[in-house]
Amino acid sequence: MEFKKCERCGSFFLSESNICGNCSPKDTFELSKLRTYFEGDVNTTSIDSIAVDTGISVKNLNRYLENEEFSKISSKLNIGNVKL
Ligand SMILES: [Zn+2]
Repeated sequence: MEFKKCERCGSFFLSESNICGNCSPKDTFELSKLRTYFEGDVNTTSIDSIAVDTGISVKNLNRYLENEEFSKISSKLNIGNVKL
């Protein structure tokens, strides 16, 4: 275990994950929202419109879409490698 900087709020914490304990419920909530969103008919081609539709910030969306489970979607949207 080592000190990590939370990718959401920037605070330091001791964990195996990249997200601190305060933020992980928010991540879980937004991820389930995102999964539900992608289950529908998504004609979105930009991460900005996903952000508008879901209310999830572009910064967090970029992080979520790096997950293996969204690899199909992010390659389709061509946003998987976008860094802000
Ligand atoms: Zn945090």
